[in-house]
Amino acid sequence: MIDEKELQALFQYEKGPVLSVYLDTDLSDKSKEAVRLTFRNLARDLQASRGDAKLLAKEIESVQNWLNFEYDWQSRGVALFISDGDLWQVFPLPIAVRSRLYYTERPYVRPLTDVADRLGEYAVALIDRESLRLFSVAWGKIRAETEAVGEELKRHKQGGWAAARYQRHEDNLALHNLKHAVEVIQAFCEQRNCRRLMLGGSPEVLAQVKELMPYALRERVIGEFAVDIEASANEVLIRSLDVAQQVDAEEEHKLVAEAITAAAKGANGVTGLADTLYELHQGRVQVLLVEEDYHAPGFVCTHCGYVAAQPAEACAFCQSTEIEETPDVVNLAIHKAIETGADVNIVRENEALRAAGGIAAILRY
Ligand SMILES: [Zn+2]
Repeated sequence: MIDEKELQALFQYEKGPVLSVYLDTDLSDKSKEAVRLTFRNLARDLQASRGDAKLLAKEIESVQNWLNFEYDWQSRGVALFISDGDLWQVFPLPIAVRSRLYYTERPYVRPLTDVADRLGEYAVALIDRESLRLFSVAWGKIRAETEAVGEELKRHKQGGWAAARYQRHEDNLALHNLKHAVEVIQAFCEQRNCRRLMLGGSPEVLAQVKELMPYALRERVIGEFAVDIEASANEVLIRSLDVAQQVDAEEEHKLVAEAITAAAKGANGVTGLADTLYELHQGRVQVLLVEEDYHAPGFVCTHCGYVAAQPAEACAFCQSTEIEETPDVVNLAIHKAIETGADVNIVRENEALRAAGGIAAILRY
């Protein structure tokens, strides 16, 4: 569970620039060495984008040492915040995050708080026609588990009913059980104030359960998965985290689609490097969407800080002629977005964004 006090201290940290490190440390699809390599590459990219190969050398080395000798690799993701000797804060994350480094005036906590919002707490209900199991999951761990069984159905199953009559009776009992299950789920959710709910079971049963749910409860269902009612608690946890990650990816797809559609209509959206950089400089970007591995060289006006994709005689904003080449404007764009209060989304494996130039944004107006 995330420590509220540590998080508050981080929010209030004001003693100068902070290196914020987010790493995907999910070892189901890569090795530890691959994670270490990703970090080294990101560090090099950050240094290159600032034109300083020695930038943050000490901090980078301490993260490398931590990855080599201290990290227990027990979580799918990790966030670290480091500042010149007096800030070293590590938060294990229950889901994988996009690997990225940020070097900003204040700790860049947005990806961390996003994860906390999504996974701070959710409930999982496993349902079949006879029984219900409820789990409360917080920060990637199961906190509580309860069980409710439709006793009546179990009892009748053992008795000797005539087949046809029994079948009809059983259907009625199953419906009765599902109705009861919905009531129990609702009480569980109200008691724990859980805003998010996942359902596990056979698709037929889940469809029926959702129909029986009052609207306010159905609204809270963020995902579902097929699973056996007898599944181990650990399997339930892993499946639910997979669903959480999937939900996250779907939300990202929606944002990309929204930006592209808005741009096509000439509304509050923009795509491609040149246009996105232009809007960014005007502080109009609300949500910046960047493909994970996208980098591009470009130009920076040393007078007003305008970052541009194309060379120009003079700056488009301040007419200064003091323009310098820079190896990676994308990294600079991300940092500028953070400084202007935009939400930054590093997007993985999204064909639409790639086709739109690897970068896009939803604008404030
Ligand atoms: Zn300028």
